[in-house]
Amino acid sequence: MTTTNTDLQDLLDNNKRWAANTEAGEPGFFSRLLKQQTPQYLWIGCADSRVPANELVDLLPGELFVHRNVANVVVHSDLNCLSVMQFAVDQLKVRHIIIVGHSNCGGVVAALKDLRVGLADNWIRHVQDVRHMHQAWLDTLPEARRVEALVELNVLEQARNACHTTVVQDAWSRGQEVVVHGWVYGLHNGLLEDLSLTAAGPEQVDPTRPTGARWRASRPGTRRRPE
Ligand SMILES: [Zn+2]
Repeated sequence: MTTTNTDLQDLLDNNKRWAANTEAGEPGFFSRLLKQQTPQYLWIGCADSRVPANELVDLLPGELFVHRNVANVVVHSDLNCLSVMQFAVDQLKVRHIIIVGHSNCGGVVAALKDLRVGLADNWIRHVQDVRHMHQAWLDTLPEARRVEALVELNVLEQARNACHTTVVQDAWSRGQEVVVHGWVYGLHNGLLEDLSLTAAGPEQVDPTRPTGARWRASRPGTRRRPE
């Protein structure tokens, strides 16, 4: 216990420097943030420490509302994620919800390879559900491509789940503009890829189902991306 403060002193020092630099670069930055939070985007991404949401899209505090969990899962009974979505859509009026997976995701690897990691197995089970839904197609891919494919399938299925939440359905019913997107971040190159899933209304949800031929055709097993 005696080392606790010294262990974290670097972080506290970093914070002081960051706050001072931010205020010096843009005087009044924090007092303006205090009065206003008007992000346009809700980011639902993986908790992986290599995927820092704001930094990847070069947005400042106040510009991106963020929810992260293991393997960027959207579950209909997860009150944490649903509450974030509800606050973002109803109170902050975000216009875009972006589900963001990333290459070589440990949660996806565990789901694909039946790796036991502990309590989190119960959470990763949601990703295994996606795997089982698409097992026959995944089996047609070279083994080296399966993680990447399941990462993308997981993003698309979680984006579909987001579309089916009461939060998004109610927003669409009252004519509020909310668009759901699916992206994947490449750990190897720092780039985000749009999976071309864009749902701005209930009629656009089912056609985006990744089990459809259109999505499979766009994802042949010969894609080149190091894992
Ligand atoms: Zn991950």
